[in-house]
Amino acid sequence: MDVRDTGNFWRLAGPAVGMKGVMRLILLGTPGVGKGTQALELSECLHILHISTGELLRVEMENKTPIGMKIDKYMNAGELVPDTIIIDMLEKRLQEPDSRKGFVLDGFPRNLNQADYLKSSLERLQTSLDRVINIEVPIDTVLNRLLQRNRADDTPETIKYRLEIYKQETIPLIDYYQRAGILEQINGDASPEEVTNRILACIA
Ligand code: ADP
Repeated sequence: MDVRDTGNFWRLAGPAVGMKGVMRLILLGTPGVGKGTQALELSECLHILHISTGELLRVEMENKTPIGMKIDKYMNAGELVPDTIIIDMLEKRLQEPDSRKGFVLDGFPRNLNQADYLKSSLERLQTSLDRVINIEVPIDTVLNRLLQRNRADDTPETIKYRLEIYKQETIPLIDYYQRAGILEQINGDASPEEVTNRILACIA
């Protein structure tokens, strides 16, 4: 049997397969498509950083930092936190030396303003994005997954609101990155391992 069919191919073969070193990726997809799970897996397979803006924000809230105190009303309501806060946070994270080994962004950008910022910020660091992966999953599956997750902002009302915000603010990014020629569409309605393999196959 071809080792590629085992689902372990990419893990066995390691990160060097067909790739010229450092990878800078973005994961797009509605809440609940599995961005967090895939980002973690990709960061391990490719030896790159996993940067989740949702996680960074939740840490600020848990530690009750000045930023944490400012953002909890947005997070709990399912609204986007103001761009100035999130952009500042990401800028600092990208300036840390470990980001040079590459990264997968999970939860950023979420609107065109953030995408423009990211573009100029990467240009300042003399680098650019390699790929943007848009993960798609049927809406019923997404709703089931979110309702099972038990996170504070996963109530039925907030979920509905977050999906609406995604539609209005984040969907335009699909076209934006399509035009930039770096968008990959992935069907995420499969096991986590299978989805990882699909992503790795299309970025190789
Ligand atoms: P999900 O993708 O399931 O919504 P996240 O952990 O990515 O989960 O985000 C949770 C919340 O964090 C969002 O609803 C929003 O309030 C805030 N957030 C995360 N990333 C951003 C961002 N790039 N811009 C603005 N708000 C953000």
